Amino acid sequence: MPAKTVSRPSAPRRNASSYVLDRELVDDLVAANRTLARLGVLDAFGHISVRDPRDPHRYLMSRSIAPESVSAGDILLLDLDSQTVDSKDEGKLLYRERFIHGEIYKVRPDVNAVVHSHSPTVVPFTVTRAKLRPLLHNAGFLGLGVPLFEIRKHAGDGTDLMILTPNLGKDLAKKLGKDAAVVLMRGHGDSVVGPSLPNAVFRAYYTEINARQQLAALTIGGPINFMSRAEALTSNDAMLKASARPWALWRKRALAEG
Ligand code: MN
Repeated sequence: MPAKTVSRPSAPRRNASSYVLDRELVDDLVAANRTLARLGVLDAFGHISVRDPRDPHRYLMSRSIAPESVSAGDILLLDLDSQTVDSKDEGKLLYRERFIHGEIYKVRPDVNAVVHSHSPTVVPFTVTRAKLRPLLHNAGFLGLGVPLFEIRKHAGDGTDLMILTPNLGKDLAKKLGKDAAVVLMRGHGDSVVGPSLPNAVFRAYYTEINARQQLAALTIGGPINFMSRAEALTSNDAMLKASARPWALWRKRALAEG
């Protein structure tokens, strides 16, 4: 047995070598960013990530720029503590709310993509008693539950409502829970998850559309005939497959823009 007199150096957090990211997955993420910006779900803020299929303890996300501007060279690899893992990415500006993503991936192994946005028509449902509920068949996933995260309960009064620490990311992931696809964030927006990037993009879009339609329905007279829970669950299953069609269109259009 060797003498244990030499203390072990702490493991380097970053690997010195450069990782080669899967080009198709990078293009998917670029397309997702541009698409949700074009569809009005993301504005100059918000972000999308996808879990690395080669290592579930890592995810891909853009450096901190407006989603509409994202190109392949902007995509970074992060660990689940939401720190970069490649030395070439050291010093790059990262999204301040990236902990939303890493902390959700830690507790939801079924989730492979996350969209955080300030989805404009969703925000009124975060500050009123009105509950966002599925009325459109594409939005059946809302039947899995739509929890509301109240940051004052976790960080007190006086925050800027943003998820700026790992602990707040953990709290948000806990509020999302084991089943929901969407967690609302009071006065801020939402975070939407899916088993795949196309499905998470689909869900983020139809969360916004369902919110618009729910508001429209209220203006022409309620009560609204919402989907039943059984319908919502059946529809969610169907849309997990159907989301491939709009995704193919969105991806092609987004990448054609260059
Ligand atoms: Mn935000």
